[in-house]
Amino acid sequence: MPLVLILFLAGGLWAGCQSGRAPASAEEARNPPAVSAEVTQVRRPQGELARESRPRFDGERAFVHLKKQCAFGPRYLGSRGHAECRDYLVTEMKKYADEVVTQDFSYRGMPLSNIAGVFYPAGSEKPAASPVLLLAHWDTRPIADGPNAPENRRGTPYRYGPRGWNRLDPIPGASDGASGVAVLLELARLFHSKKPSVGVVILLVDGEDYGDFQANNRKGEGVFLGSRYFAQHYRRNPVFGNPMYGILLDMVGGKNLLIPREEFSQQYAPGTNERVFRIAQALGYGRIFRWDRSHMVEDDHVPLNEAGIPTIDLLHPLPFGEYATTGYVHWHTLQDVPENCSAQSLQAVGDVVAEAIYSER
Ligand SMILES: [Zn+2]
Repeated sequence: MPLVLILFLAGGLWAGCQSGRAPASAEEARNPPAVSAEVTQVRRPQGELARESRPRFDGERAFVHLKKQCAFGPRYLGSRGHAECRDYLVTEMKKYADEVVTQDFSYRGMPLSNIAGVFYPAGSEKPAASPVLLLAHWDTRPIADGPNAPENRRGTPYRYGPRGWNRLDPIPGASDGASGVAVLLELARLFHSKKPSVGVVILLVDGEDYGDFQANNRKGEGVFLGSRYFAQHYRRNPVFGNPMYGILLDMVGGKNLLIPREEFSQQYAPGTNERVFRIAQALGYGRIFRWDRSHMVEDDHVPLNEAGIPTIDLLHPLPFGEYATTGYVHWHTLQDVPENCSAQSLQAVGDVVAEAIYSER
């Protein structure tokens, strides 16, 4: 997961998003169920039918994928865990997808791989022209530089230079890395078992969390590498089609999961964002998916949105400001471990995304 953007954005435009709430948000906070209720009543029966006739998402199975990734150790660029986890993800994806495509590239001499599983629409023998894109990053951060990391406060401060970081305290990345991938691998099992009406591309991106989020006037250096690569190259491979929208999962495994509406998502993909949050309400996950609260982060969805794929980000906020205690407090610490995650959190996110995909017509 990236560094929170809200705190660092210049000017007052976004100041209200994090500390106190902007009037627009407060207005929406009073309003959301009115919109939701109307659409929910229309959609819910459809959703119920879809759920009865399709395999159920299993949060416990997803949690096994989370633990398996963590068992490789830290998975930052250049590490042994990174190489071993890549092979595991490719092997898993090949069990389920109609096609598996890897995008292999490098950064500062280190190998990176985006791993994509392409699922044809039900009844089709070829990729969809406009699939839905589901993505998560699979790499983990090489340093524990979160605000709650003791490693961040002792000794030499971390510095990012031409040869990389001056120190390593690699995080386990249970929620920040493994959780989104875990949900997507379990969804891959579902899509293999019963094809959705729409085509789906499950994209596991590399190199989200390696470098310095604040470099280059906060555009970052060595971060969002996989999503940027995909944004620049997906049109060259017809198997990816022209995705109609994307859903990014990031840090969705923590206990006490909270997923407020994310502001870039709302700006770039309001229809998808509202639809997903309505589905969450209809499925009884309104305490996790909070339409009445908001935050804003630079994440892998931004390069995709800039490339024309409207993409939302579902994530547990970073532990700053309003979310200092309710965000993912283990963010970029050595405590980002499976014990601080839960199968129930994966279940909630998996149920919502599965419903979003299976109810597409
Ligand atoms: Zn991170």
